[in-house]
Amino acid sequence: MARQRIGANDDDAVELLRALIREACVNDGTPGSGQEIRSVRVLQRFFAAAVAAGRVETQVLESAPGRASLIARVRGTDPSAPSLGLLGHLDVVPVDPDGWSRNPFGGELVDGEIWGRGAVDMLYLTAVFACVLREAAIAAEPPRGDLVLLAVADEEAGGEYGIHWLVREHPDAVRVSEALSESGGMRMGRHVAIEVAEKGSAGRRLVVRGKPGHASIPFGASSAAYRVGDVLQRLGEVKPAAQLGELWDAFVAARIDDPVLAERLRDPVSIDAALPQLGGIAGYAHAVSRITLSPTVLRAGATHNVIPAVGTIDLDIRTLPGTSDDDVDELLAAVLGPLAEEIEIQRLRGWAATASSPSEPLFGAVERAVGAVTGSPVVPIMAAGGSDARVLRELGIPAYGFGVLGPTWSYERYREGVHGNDERIDAESIALSLAVLRRVVRERVG
Ligand SMILES: [Zn+2]
Repeated sequence: MARQRIGANDDDAVELLRALIREACVNDGTPGSGQEIRSVRVLQRFFAAAVAAGRVETQVLESAPGRASLIARVRGTDPSAPSLGLLGHLDVVPVDPDGWSRNPFGGELVDGEIWGRGAVDMLYLTAVFACVLREAAIAAEPPRGDLVLLAVADEEAGGEYGIHWLVREHPDAVRVSEALSESGGMRMGRHVAIEVAEKGSAGRRLVVRGKPGHASIPFGASSAAYRVGDVLQRLGEVKPAAQLGELWDAFVAARIDDPVLAERLRDPVSIDAALPQLGGIAGYAHAVSRITLSPTVLRAGATHNVIPAVGTIDLDIRTLPGTSDDDVDELLAAVLGPLAEEIEIQRLRGWAATASSPSEPLFGAVERAVGAVTGSPVVPIMAAGGSDARVLRELGIPAYGFGVLGPTWSYERYREGVHGNDERIDAESIALSLAVLRRVVRERVG
């Protein structure tokens, strides 16, 4: 397959991406950050002529001052046709400027690469979504089904000011029957990865109690600090076992060439000993093959001279599709063993793992389009983290993590780029994503 060249229309996507990077909609998790209204204004200018011609309807919806999302809808002619949503976020995570070799908000184009925070996660896709929607809007024939861009605020902090608020307060504006979002397109072997599932989050706070006392006379006291230590030791020793399903099989088939290694990875007994052989992708493989537990925040004591009576351990727990809250509590009891009786377990805010079936028509359309443009097969994968797509899946809408990155984008390279220093995307990946998305749109709603 020839290398994908950037075409005349593809320059629009590159220029839009650079403009979005320069708006620096940095979301640090505080309500006043993000200020996505700036990038919404960029998109309004991008769509202005198509809006004036009556081809696109846009709505700007603001959940809090400056926390704006833009919905752009191209109306289809057939109400029974599917309506395809393109869900892209406008916010980006903060940077450590010292770690960057270029301005993280400069949007510089250097040797075919566009530099800046958000270039990969996920402004390049948001720009690709916007471009393909505008092309569909100004095409001679209107589409059969609706094509809808949801360019939203606040994905990086969980979406409370973005997709959650939109779904709650403006359900008609965001209504679609199927959707594409981030973050796929990494190469696994000769396959292009498309996300069909995301792990859930079921954090817990473990509360341990002791007996307080003056720290100058520790005799007879029972410090909660030591109990925190006992629990941590136990958590370090007892690990949840692997649970291998269809997506695991697909991952092994796509990524592992060595048949002996593949067989060991497919066996829940030998998998853990085989993981280190996976190199840079071992962490991902470990995460998507089981429920994971990570202690993150420890607390005990408030004053230097008082033996603490209470200690807490916050656990980040990531679940697999099908795991219930009761399953998590049962697993924790098993991991904690005899210590469990003395521990109070509190549930932290979380969300369930979600999955869309790869047998939905939209996934088939993505497979065909990826095959036609790249010559590569698609592998459905599970994301270890979360994205806004889960909010649509929770509504029963099939949603996939899309994107088509160039042939050198292994999963490892992708992980390094996202939220890291010197984030940048190549024009080839933008061209590939545009070419594939155009085909998908034509097949589903064109
Ligand atoms: Zn993202």
